[in-house]
Amino acid sequence: EAGELADRLEVKLYVVGGIVRDLLLGIDNLDLDLVVEGNGLAFAKALARAQRGQVKVHERFGTARVTLADGFKVDVATARAEYYEYPTALPTVEQGSVKKDLYRRDFTINTLAVRLNRRQFGELIDFFGGERDLKGRTIRVLHSLSFVEDPTRVFRAIRFAVRFDFVLSRETRALIQGVVKMDLLRRLSKHRLTDELQLVLSEREPGKAIALMDELEVLACLHPDLELTPRLRTLLKATEEALDWYRLLFLDRPMESWLVYLMAMLQVLPDQAVGEVLKRIELSARQEAAVRAGRFGGHRIFRELGRRPAVSPAAVYRALSGTSDETLVFLMAKSKSEHVRRQLSAYVTTYQRMRPALKGDDLKRMGLKPGPLYRRILSKLLEARLNGVVNNEEDERALVR
Ligand code: ATP
Repeated sequence: EAGELADRLEVKLYVVGGIVRDLLLGIDNLDLDLVVEGNGLAFAKALARAQRGQVKVHERFGTARVTLADGFKVDVATARAEYYEYPTALPTVEQGSVKKDLYRRDFTINTLAVRLNRRQFGELIDFFGGERDLKGRTIRVLHSLSFVEDPTRVFRAIRFAVRFDFVLSRETRALIQGVVKMDLLRRLSKHRLTDELQLVLSEREPGKAIALMDELEVLACLHPDLELTPRLRTLLKATEEALDWYRLLFLDRPMESWLVYLMAMLQVLPDQAVGEVLKRIELSARQEAAVRAGRFGGHRIFRELGRRPAVSPAAVYRALSGTSDETLVFLMAKSKSEHVRRQLSAYVTTYQRMRPALKGDDLKRMGLKPGPLYRRILSKLLEARLNGVVNNEEDERALVR
């Protein structure tokens, strides 16, 4: 349908980028990127109209986002047709504009395009050897200044290499090493570095990404002393296992797993270096508190949970309440004691969500005057619940009386 529309508006239409790459790799991808040679904005508006979708236009960039009725999003970019550059060689010149658009991209595997106009529907356009590199499982930049132009591509290269299990071409690898030597990664803004770090640590196998970052000496942009030591390797493995455990238990609970990997990396740095890393990146207050608690809060918690005979569930609750799930998962990975891990697990799976059956309103109905006393009563009730002293509302009422 989009192709038909393009024919009607007499523009050339291509689907480009990640979705073409993933299609050829047989992987799902729901981000549809279109490039139009000609008036892309008019095309986007017409597409939205035909599909009863919404369109948001960025005039200045010649881009638009169309949101279809079912929530599916389509990004449309304009590649200006340059008919007049070489008037005698029209065909090649007409192709020139999409080619220029694709040349600005990061790696050859991301430069594949498929024509959508009806007559040429499905034609694969491959200016830079993207198909060869997909088959050869290779990440390759388009030109030697690519990483200097945009150093975040170093992280993108690592992400794609790990995600698809591809190798970096020899030249690409050498260019990354050059950028690292020139210290260009350390000059990235906090914001961009943090974004890239989050993305790379949110890939399916962050341990592999960290190993590749270590090999390319990219970890040093966080801290010169950060290295994949055997100790970090072990800790990363334990982190992965703890995250798997958590995900299996709570498929639906959101978890910033990348922060847990960050905690693991910080664990092998001395205290002072941790502060330096946290100055290099930009975390929200919540994220930073979670990371610090994971890195520094372990001693107190492990000492408490490690006591023998085991402390009561209420004491476990007191030691852990307010701790983020990310921190808890990391403590699970970090702890070497089975005894401690059992209690962490009981807290995460049970204690954390326990509440007394009685609420403030119930206390009121029982004739108690509202006030600070309520909090004390409710917290005593919770404690009694946790320790199995009371098991139902009746017991709770009896206890209050
Ligand atoms: P993902 O599955 O990670 O989203 P993607 O390839 O779709 O993979 P996006 O970050 O959504 O990645 O980018 C879409 C396209 O835009 C890419 O295929 C790439 O061609 C281009 N692109 C994105 N970031 C850059 C960059 N920093 N430099 C050059 N091209 C980029």
